[in-house]
Amino acid sequence: MVDVRIARRGVRDERVLNAMRTVPRERFVSEAMAEFAYEDSPLPIEEGQTISQPYIVAAMIEAAEIAPGDRVLEVGAGSGYAAAVIGQIAGEVYAIERHDALGRMAQERFEALGYKNITLRVGDGTRGWPDAGPFDAILVAAGGPEVPQALKAQLAVDGRLVIPVGEYGDQKLCKVTRCSEDRYSEESLGAVTFVPLIGEQGWSEDGRRSASNHVPGTSRKQTLPEMISDAAENLPAFDDPAFVRLFDRFADRRVVLLGEASHGTSEFYQARAAITRHLIEQHGFTIVAVEADWPDAATVDHYVRHRPAQKAAEAPFQRFPTWMWRNTDIAALIEWMRSRNEAVSEKDARAGFYGLDIYNMSGSIAAVLGYLDRVDPEAAKVARERYGCLTPWQKDPATYGRATLSRGYAECEEAVIEQCRELLAKRLDYAREDGDDFLDAAQNARLVASAERYYRIMYYGGAESWNLRDTHMFETLENLLEAKGPNAKAIVWAHNSHIGDARHTDMGVTRDELNIGQLCREKFGRDAALIGFGTHTGTVAAATDWDGDMEVKRVLPSRRDSYERLCHDSGKERFLLDLSPGKHEALRRRLSEPRLERFIGVIYRPDTELWSHYSQAVLPEQFDAYVWFDETQAVTPLGPEHHRGMPETYPFGE
Ligand code: SAM
Repeated sequence: MVDVRIARRGVRDERVLNAMRTVPRERFVSEAMAEFAYEDSPLPIEEGQTISQPYIVAAMIEAAEIAPGDRVLEVGAGSGYAAAVIGQIAGEVYAIERHDALGRMAQERFEALGYKNITLRVGDGTRGWPDAGPFDAILVAAGGPEVPQALKAQLAVDGRLVIPVGEYGDQKLCKVTRCSEDRYSEESLGAVTFVPLIGEQGWSEDGRRSASNHVPGTSRKQTLPEMISDAAENLPAFDDPAFVRLFDRFADRRVVLLGEASHGTSEFYQARAAITRHLIEQHGFTIVAVEADWPDAATVDHYVRHRPAQKAAEAPFQRFPTWMWRNTDIAALIEWMRSRNEAVSEKDARAGFYGLDIYNMSGSIAAVLGYLDRVDPEAAKVARERYGCLTPWQKDPATYGRATLSRGYAECEEAVIEQCRELLAKRLDYAREDGDDFLDAAQNARLVASAERYYRIMYYGGAESWNLRDTHMFETLENLLEAKGPNAKAIVWAHNSHIGDARHTDMGVTRDELNIGQLCREKFGRDAALIGFGTHTGTVAAATDWDGDMEVKRVLPSRRDSYERLCHDSGKERFLLDLSPGKHEALRRRLSEPRLERFIGVIYRPDTELWSHYSQAVLPEQFDAYVWFDETQAVTPLGPEHHRGMPETYPFGE
């Protein structure tokens, strides 16, 4: 954790990193939380408080420039963890905690672990500890309305005080240095989120500013939710033409990427469908590329573009999570695309529906074989042999990865790559028959090659399999754009985690993961628009475990320290927030400090929401715009979850 989560985010002081390595964080949390002790996130402790995020503890100690022999005051000892880390470097640590129970537990931990240079007392730390000062450094682990005067007074000359300051949801980490007896300098170290500092020179219990530290005559800065409210453009109903007109600003882009904060929220689908219809109808977009498997989406594409029906082995989107594509919102879009295409006489101008994802390996194998059977039966025989290598694993390709791992070599790799190469080499011959059919077959052959590799490297964990999948999705998009010509324009539907630029989230910063959004920005620059979606609460269609049943779950209200809560606190129900550079610069700047953002996929686990679903991001860098629906509803599935006599041949009602 120290090397990956802390050093890589910029903490350089070896003394701090070593101290972090030495103190066992799991001893400072309850047994139930111990398994999360080495996650870089705050964790709940008793009395409704938190043990701070390890990165923040390290960053604060580094900022306070604690050196051996220093006398240090920590206000807000909580679990005692930060005091213990400080104690590894400093000479003496004085720690104050206002909750008696927390103070007692922290004291017991210090004794059990043999930390002898920490003295702890229970009381109001905003008044400091005058008898023990002056201090070389003071760290405050809770956020006050301003810097307590008492703490400044107890700093030694050259002493450093590090404290979060500001309204909840809009705190900055502040460093005060005492330059001389009566001179202090102050600098801001960036946005943070801490529990409130409650005391005589902090907040009062009811959340108001305590009187004794207030400097009269100071004017009030606009809060972030107020700034969001000012910048937000209200979204009318989906069928109001004014709704889609708000997105005209992105219509000149080559690629418009539309995200979602969960895979099971109806408003995200409805909004994306409305925007998609408008971009197709008014702005010449002809590619709708979604986070679904290529062969499944191809069946839909045949339907919407009135191409001859394919003989598929199974109806599309039969595999988990079926509700993602088999739902009423998607069904409506597909029907719309079909009837709209009917009126477009020029076939190339018809909008198609494509899948970017790689999971349906067996569907792709069947599609390549079916294609070759039609156009080149001799080549089909060879392909059958090559793909035969994967036959034993087709039902559950993940087992192929496990098998190659134990065998130590990738048995089918060469065969599937060769098959793909050969098919592409015959492009000129094959494509003469039908360009669309060739594109379909080529993409299926590419999918099999990517999937073979994907299922193998999945077993090593880490970023590689994610990166392979997103690179495949991006290359599929590129292939589509290339196949449709230089003026082709695409709309992409994928989760926020795929379309929000990964370089500005924990994915890129700490996990070396990239995604389609990042790759699009790198290739298309301003010609790609990355639009994220978010919600505060409501219901969502999701499973509890992988391959589990779909459930309609309640989405917990967003966390107080998240971007979502800032949007909720704006008081607006549905809006578009334009985050493009040059627009709302003051807001962009203030939103630009990393904060938590919620990611719900096909799995939603409210019980462990913080660790399972929240991650750090810098919203205005991640997206060009953010679409907000304060309260949202689960999608309505068409599949067996809600059997309503829907024919199994969906999406064909015939
Ligand atoms: N450093 C702690 C750790 O490593 O676990 C972090 C604890 S938490 C973020 C902040 C703590 O500050 C809470 O335990 C809270 O009770 C305490 N606190 C808030 N106001 C305080 C005050 N005026 N004096 C002392 N402690 C205070």
